[in-house]
Amino acid sequence: MRRRELMAGTAALLAMPVQVLRAQPADEGSWPRSAQVPGGIARVSLGPAAERPKAFAENDIPLLVLGDAIEWTALVGIPLSAVPGERRIELRSTSGARRTLGYPVAPKKYSEQHLKVSPRTVDLSPADQARYERERDHLAGVMATFSEAGALPPSLQMQVPVPGRRSSSFGLRRVFNGQSRNPHSGMDIAAGTGTPVRAPLPGRVIDTGDYFFNGNTVWLDHGGGLLSMYCHLSATEVRAGDLLRTGETLGAVGATGRVTGPHLHWSVMLNRAMVDPALFIAAA
Ligand SMILES: [Zn+2]
Repeated sequence: MRRRELMAGTAALLAMPVQVLRAQPADEGSWPRSAQVPGGIARVSLGPAAERPKAFAENDIPLLVLGDAIEWTALVGIPLSAVPGERRIELRSTSGARRTLGYPVAPKKYSEQHLKVSPRTVDLSPADQARYERERDHLAGVMATFSEAGALPPSLQMQVPVPGRRSSSFGLRRVFNGQSRNPHSGMDIAAGTGTPVRAPLPGRVIDTGDYFFNGNTVWLDHGGGLLSMYCHLSATEVRAGDLLRTGETLGAVGATGRVTGPHLHWSVMLNRAMVDPALFIAAA
């Protein structure tokens, strides 16, 4: 018996409210793949509950919780900076009870990449440093967006935003002009300037701007703390507040910001952790 049918039968027996049954997406096949390593996603079972429970990572960051009354699961984005070992989330019931749940994170060794770029983008001038810090503070607010998971699309499997050769460079430890910088926290897709960039999932535009490192950028909110970011665009065709369907154009590939040539940089963020976008793409 398929899980859906089983649930429907069980729900009828328990006379559960219809809203509980509609808690989407319950089909685990439409969830991102799990990979319990830095930059990956953990699935932490929260057990049964009549209503979607609230779960939090460290620093009170709310987590994406999926499933149904029979079993809820937290999908936890694991930061690239996470130290392997036991990590914890906190489950909070409506009555105020708190329970800590642990999950293991295995080590993953990402390789190192040496890049030569314009010196002005590595050794920032005081004006560029001030600009970068302003943008970083603004983006921290963007990244803290958390819409209720009830607004999530029925499947979290994403379409590739542009056709093209996809690098497997997520997590690369990068050395610019001999200086170590943050690891590469997204996927680069090679495509010519002007190629349309399309929303990989339904989402709401929460930010657009021209940023020092990322160039012309669009951020989408898909619900439940699942966000995505598109950088180095030659043009932006949406504004904050726009609602996009899967496949709608949000901008065009370009080479703005700190880049060595035209490509799309695509990041996916879950509970404020950049995770590997490849986990959201259906395996070919
Ligand atoms: Zn990139």
